Amino acid sequence: MKPEIAIIGGGYAGLACAVTLARADVRVTVFESSRVLGGRARVVEKDGSRIDNGQHIMIGAYSQTLQLMRQVGVSPKWLETRPLTMHYPGRMHLKAANLPSPLHLAVGLLRASGLDWKDRFAAARLIRYLKKRKWQLGADKPVTNLLLDAGQTLRLRELLWEPLCIAALNTPPRRASAQIFANVLRDSLGAGASASELLLPRVDLSELFPVPAARWLAMHGHRVSTLDQIKGIRIEDGVFWLDGGPKWAGFHHVVIATAPYHALPLIEPFPELARLRQQIEALEYEPILTTYLAYDESVRLPEPMIGMSGGHIQWLFDRAQFGGPPGLLAAVISAHGPHEALDKAELEVLIQEEIHTLLGRLPPPQWIKTIVEKRATFACKPGLDRPSHRTAVPGLWLAGDYVAGDYPATLEGATRSGVRTALAVLASL
Ligand SMILES: Cc1cc2nc3c(=O)[nH]c(=O)nc-3n(C[C@H](O)[C@H](O)[C@H](O)COP(=O)(O)OP(=O)(O)OC[C@H]3O[C@@H](n4cnc5c(N)ncnc54)[C@H](O)[C@@H]3O)c2cc1C
Repeated sequence: MKPEIAIIGGGYAGLACAVTLARADVRVTVFESSRVLGGRARVVEKDGSRIDNGQHIMIGAYSQTLQLMRQVGVSPKWLETRPLTMHYPGRMHLKAANLPSPLHLAVGLLRASGLDWKDRFAAARLIRYLKKRKWQLGADKPVTNLLLDAGQTLRLRELLWEPLCIAALNTPPRRASAQIFANVLRDSLGAGASASELLLPRVDLSELFPVPAARWLAMHGHRVSTLDQIKGIRIEDGVFWLDGGPKWAGFHHVVIATAPYHALPLIEPFPELARLRQQIEALEYEPILTTYLAYDESVRLPEPMIGMSGGHIQWLFDRAQFGGPPGLLAAVISAHGPHEALDKAELEVLIQEEIHTLLGRLPPPQWIKTIVEKRATFACKPGLDRPSHRTAVPGLWLAGDYVAGDYPATLEGATRSGVRTALAVLASL
C-alpha cells in the first residue's frame, strides 16, 4: 500500500512539498481552505481585472522556486529577467552591469548616478566585511548595527541597504536580523551575476506556480481539494484523521503548510506540542499595504519598479511592465509605520499626491483598490527562535516561510521549506 500523505495549505510551501513528494512513490492530497491557490501570493479579481494580492519581487537566487516551476512545466517566458536596478528618481540610479560577478556590481557602482566615492567604497566595504566573515555574524544583531559596524554612509543606508532590507525581510532595519539579511546578500549580490537579477512575473502569482503545480499533481493522480478547510487533526490506530470536506479521511503523514497563526488551532489537541505553540505564539507580524491605481493608458514609469523616499510610498510598480494593463500602478508600503494611523481614504489621497509629485498632475484614476495584508510576514528579528519542520508528534510535520531556515518570509523561503519537509517525510518512510 502506498503511503498517503496530507498537506494542509495550498500556498507555495504546501505545493512545493506536494510536488516533491509526488515525484516519489507516495499518494498526496492537498487541502486548501480558499477557492484560490497561492495563499499570501495569490490572484484577486477587481472589476474583471486579475491583480495580485501584493507585488512580489523575485530574484535569480530563487533557485528552488525556479526549479519547481520547471518541474511542473512553467514556461521560462513567464519570468522576464532584468539586471538589478535601484532607481530613486532624481536621487540615485544604480544598475548592475552585464558582466560576470563581482564585476557586475563593481561596474554598476562605478556607473551609478547619485553616489559619490565615499558611498561606492562603503558599499564594497560591506560586501568585503561579510565575505571576510564567511557571511556568518556570530551573535545576531539588528541590520542597523551591521550597517554602522561596516561604516555605511547615510545615503547608502537610506537608498540602498535599508530599502533592500525592508524588501527582503519586510522588517525595519532597526528590528531586522542582520544574519538573515547577510544570508540574502550572500545568495544574491555575493553570488553569480544572474543571482541578483530581477525576475518579473508576467502572469499572476497563482498562475506562476500554484495553479500549474495543482494541474501537474492532478495529471499524476494526486488530489488538490480547494474550498476544503481542515478543522481538526486526531490520531487513531496510528493513522492521522483530518476533519475536512469529505469528513475524517485517514493519512499516514500530515504536513501543516499554513501560515503560523493558522497552524495554532490544528496543533491545539496535542499536549506534546506545547513548545511549538509557544514558538508560534511568540512570532510577531509585519503588514504590507498595496494600493492599485488604474490611470490612463499613457501613464508609464521609467522602470518597472522605482523607489520612493520622503513620503508614504516605498516602491511604485508599473504593472504594464509585468504583463498587466497599461496605466495600472501599484504603490507599496511595507512593514509597520506611520501610515497605519491613517484611514484608507486619507492614505489613498496622500498616495495619489505622491504620484502626482513624481509624474505631474494626472486625471483621477478610473479605480483604486487598496489591499492590506495585516500579517503579511513574520517580523524577521535577530536571533528568532523559528520552529523546526519536524514536530514532537511522529508523522506530523510543518512547512512554511516561518519554519527554521536561512531565508526570511519569501516565496523562496516557503518553497525551500516545502521541499525540505518533503525530503524528511520521504526519509522517514
Ligand atoms: C503583500 C505581500 C507581498 C510580499 N512580497 C514578497 C516579495 O516581494 N518577495 C517574496 O519572495 N515574498 C513576498 N511575500 C511573502 C510570500 O508571499 C510568503 O512568504 C509566501 O507566500 C508564504 O507561503 P506559505 O506557503 O508559507 O504560506 P501561505 O501563502 O500563507 O499559504 C498557506 C495556505 O494555507 C491555507 N490554509 C490555512 N489554514 C488552512 C486550513 N485549516 N485548511 C486548509 N488550508 C488552510 C491558506 O488559505 C493558504 O493558502 C509577500 C507577501 C505578501 C502578503
